[in-house]
This record gives sequence, C-alpha cells and structure tokens, in this order.
Amino acid sequence: DSFQDIEMGEIIMSNIALTRYNRPTPVQKYAIPIIKNKRDLMACAQTGSGKTAAFLLPVLSQIYTEGPGEAVVAQKSGGQDNGKYGRRKQYPLALVLAPTRELALQIYEEARKFAYRSRVRPCVVYGGADIGQQIRDLERGCHLLVATPGRLVDMMERGKIGLDYCNYLVLDEADRMLDMGFEPQIRRIVEQDTMPPKGVRQTMMFSATFPKEIQILARDFLEEYIFLAV
Ligand code: AMP
Repeated sequence: DSFQDIEMGEIIMSNIALTRYNRPTPVQKYAIPIIKNKRDLMACAQTGSGKTAAFLLPVLSQIYTEGPGEAVVAQKSGGQDNGKYGRRKQYPLALVLAPTRELALQIYEEARKFAYRSRVRPCVVYGGADIGQQIRDLERGCHLLVATPGRLVDMMERGKIGLDYCNYLVLDEADRMLDMGFEPQIRRIVEQDTMPPKGVRQTMMFSATFPKEIQILARDFLEEYIFLAV
C-alpha cells in the first residue's frame, strides 16, 4: 500500500514525495496499474477520492517513459506546426476533458505538481476567460491539455490544437459533462477523423454515477474496458 509498489519513474516518484501523498487512495491503488497496463477504464469514483492523481500519475508516467522518452516529447513536442503567419499549432499527447473551469484548473494545478522538473508541459483552456492569453500560453508548448469541451472546440476551429498524437484521453466527471449539455462537443472532439481511434488511443472515463447515457458513451469511446467502482 505504497506508491513505491507502483513503478512510475524517478521524476514522478520524487514529485509524489513533494506533494506529501504518503499512500495511494483506493481509486489510485486500483486504477494506476490498470492504466499502466494500457487498458481502457471506466471508473466510478466521487470527488475527493483522489481520482485526479489516479489518471494523471500513470498518464504522465507513460508520456515520460514511452519510446525514447524525452525524444518523443521533444519531437512531437506538441509537434508544433509553424503554419501560415507563424501560427503554431499544438499537438498534445494527452487530453483531459472536464465540465467546469474550476475542475479544469484543479486538474491543471495537480498536473503541474507531478510534471515539475520534467520536460512535460501541461496547459489548461476553459470558457469565460480571455482566449488570446490561453492561445499564447498554448504556443509555448503543450504536451498534456486540460480543457472544457466548448473552449477546446473553439481552439480546434481556430487551428490552435490538433489531436493527431493524442494517445491518452480522459473524460473526468463524465456524468456532469452530460448534465451540462456537453455531449455534442465531446462527440465532436472524440469522433473527429484526426483523433486516434479507440483501441489505438487509451481512454479513461471517470464518473460519479453510471446511468444509461454514460454506459452508451463508454460503449462508444472505450475498447474492451475494465469497470472499476470504488
Ligand atoms: P480528487 O478526488 O482528485 O479531487 O482529490 C481530492 C483531494 O485529495 C485533493 O486535494 C488531492 O490533493 C488529495 N489527494 C489525492 N491523492 C492523495 C493521496 N494519495 N494522499 C493524500 N492526499 C491525496
């Protein structure tokens, strides 16, 4: 019952130590090995369960260690396209969708702690705030993007974000995102042609409840998934 039991690389382990998380919570204990084994996951977990670290730790760990590690990050480095007018498009390696600005910011802050002293750069975009500033921040590099669905669609339409290399997809508080009417935007993001298809990308859904609509989303987005309830 320790983070030491879950091999996650030195940078991550030292950053966990800095956050003073002593031992994994139940959702972390069960979800991290499943995600590290590259399985899709449908997890029913409440806010406060530690679900954020349950997906951030293994996803960041995989981004660090995949292939030549740093080289993958540098090369795809959010793959920067120096397009027309010097506009730089970013290609994040991982995407986390969240229902609200508050939750998106919380996930982003936790991602920054775990990515500390690594070359992985997290970014966050959400509605109701200056888009110009968010674009300038994205242009500095984005490997892990935390986003609310509407603002991400906007960023994609402006050619600022491409999901071609997005091999990790997390839907956090999926039930709340549906309650808030985000299903069309979520489907637009996940089902676009450039997004790696299910089975190629790894997809993780977190939800407090598991009603019919979430079951349908899980059927459509996940490949032979493991169901976890904590
Ligand atoms: P979450 O459910 O992800 O919103 O996390 C709830 C709170 O628990 C957050 O403030 C986290 O920083 C904290 N937390 C998450 N995992 C741990 C852990 N293993 N040990 C102590 N605190 C944690």
